[in-house]
Parts: sequence; structure tokens; C-alpha cells
Amino acid sequence: MVRLFLISVFWLVVNLGSGWADTLGIYTHRQPFLIEPILKAYTEKTGVTFQTVYAPKGLVQRLRAEGSRTRADLVLTEDISRIVELAQAGLLAPIASRTLNQQVPSHLRDAEDRWTALSLRARIIAISKDRVATGAISTIEELATPAWKGRVCSRKGSHIYNRALLASLIAHHGVNGAKKWAAGFVDNLARKPQGNDRAQAKAIFAGECDVALMNSYYYGKMKFSEDEPEQKLWADALEMTFFNQDGRGQHVNISAAGIIKGSKQKAMARAFLEWLTSEQAQAIYGAVNFEHPVNPLAPLSEELALWGEFKIDELPLNVIAENSATAQKIIHETGW
Ligand code: FE
Repeated sequence: MVRLFLISVFWLVVNLGSGWADTLGIYTHRQPFLIEPILKAYTEKTGVTFQTVYAPKGLVQRLRAEGSRTRADLVLTEDISRIVELAQAGLLAPIASRTLNQQVPSHLRDAEDRWTALSLRARIIAISKDRVATGAISTIEELATPAWKGRVCSRKGSHIYNRALLASLIAHHGVNGAKKWAAGFVDNLARKPQGNDRAQAKAIFAGECDVALMNSYYYGKMKFSEDEPEQKLWADALEMTFFNQDGRGQHVNISAAGIIKGSKQKAMARAFLEWLTSEQAQAIYGAVNFEHPVNPLAPLSEELALWGEFKIDELPLNVIAENSATAQKIIHETGW
């Protein structure tokens, strides 16, 4: 009788103590337009609600300062380097989910189980439909050869998208090989590095250059742009080339997630990550932001299916994070 009473008191305290027992706290670098439909679908399915903090940067500092008082259970990031930074700062707990491990291939998860990829972001070569023949370029290496002199546009090398790509080239060709590539690439530029990814597509449309690096989801975003219909023309002016298809495969970056060490709701956070990597949730990334699924069983959206399947470079993503500082040095030295 006494024991029963104690048990009930215990549960009462647990429930009172967690006024938001059915709420998960999320800190994210990602944008609301993508995150909100995903969270809404989960709330509809499970009743779990979310407290979301959208922060473009500074999550390491914030989580460090909050320590065990944090209200964050999960962190969702873009780019491999940012999630690795959180892991190395000791802010992430092991995910420990067999379901997730079955849903996500191992090269897209941390070897120490502190993070998982949620979607793939392919950095492809965009070519002018009018001025470059299909198949005229098929590897990233060719982009640094004199054949493309004066025909390449690029955003600044120091942007995380380019830095990650160069970090992958360090892994494949060594520091000197990557340096040579970057120097050749910069030598081929038609203009000073500037603008974002979409600005490169616009430059191809305007005839300023014939080739550029671009994340593939921007093609979809431009093609279906509602606020700037002109962007449809930019998309229409180019063709996407998934590179190195006869070799190691296309370089990809990821969006990723991890469970915060200070979270008091790790089981709930884990269940959410299991759902995020399920076939159902993976389809949302394609439908809303034209990102590719990490779960090989997830169906491709209609638009992604049009782009065709492609082979991805399975270089472990932590290698890209590890090479990031060296890549930045090369970018600085070559003036990319
Ligand atoms: Fe982007």
C-alpha cells in the first residue's frame, strides 16, 4: 500500500514537473518554411508539439551557455560542418536507435552515433542549355582544366557549400591536388566570385558564363518560384549535371540532426528522429525543398524523379568536416 502510494506520488511529480511533457524543444539553423510542414505532420500524427528556436548561427555558444538548463531536445542543422562542431563541443548525446540505423545508410551517420543526416544536398554542375552540349563535362576535375577558361561563374569559395566541396577534393586528391584544382578553377572564372547559388544561374541565363556550381534544390526552387517568376527563366536556361557518375559519384552535403545532451526527453527526441528518417517524412523534404532523401526506400517526389537517380560519393561526411579548415586555407590562397 505504501509502495503504491509512493509510486503515484512519483508519477504526479513527473507530470507536474514537466508542464510540456508532450513538447519537444528544437534549435535549428534551417528555415521555417521547410521545418514547419514537417513539425505539423508529426503533431497531427502523434500530438507532440514543438517549441522551435530559429537561429542562423551561434548554436554552439548558446547551448554551452544553457548547459543542463536548456529547453532544447534536438538540433537540426544544414551542412555537415555545423553538426560536427556541435558533436565535438560535447553537446550531443548518442541517438541509440536501431530503427534509425536501418533507415539511414552508415556513411550518412556519425561513426560515434551523435548525429544523423536527414536529407541530401547535391552540389551539381549547372551548364548552359544553349552553349554547352549535354555530357560536355562529366567530372568536377574537368572544371579546373583550361577547356573552361573564362566560362565559369562561382559564388565565393569561403561559403560552406564550396568549402565542403573542396574538402571532399582534399580527401580524394590530397592537399596539393586540391590546391591545383582550386587554382585551375579560379583561373577559369569569367568574373569575380560573387552572389549566391541562384545568382550563378542568373549569370548563365544572362550569358555571362556557361558553367557554375549550384546546389540542385535551387533548380526546383527557381523552376517553381512564385514571388520571382523571372527565376523560372534562370532555371530554364540551364541543365543539371550530376558529376563523377562513372567514378566515385556526386559530392553531397547534408542537413542533419542530433539529440542534445542536456535533453530530459531523449526517448521522445529519438522517436521523432526515427519518424524524420521514415519514408513518409523523407518525402516532405523532396516536396517542400527539392532535397533528396537519405532513406533509400523513400519515394522521390515527381520533380526529383524527373532529375533522375544518381550515384553519390560515399566519402564519410566527417572527413569533409575534418578537411574544412585546410579547404578554407586553400580558398584564401587561391583567391576563390
Ligand atoms: Fe542553400
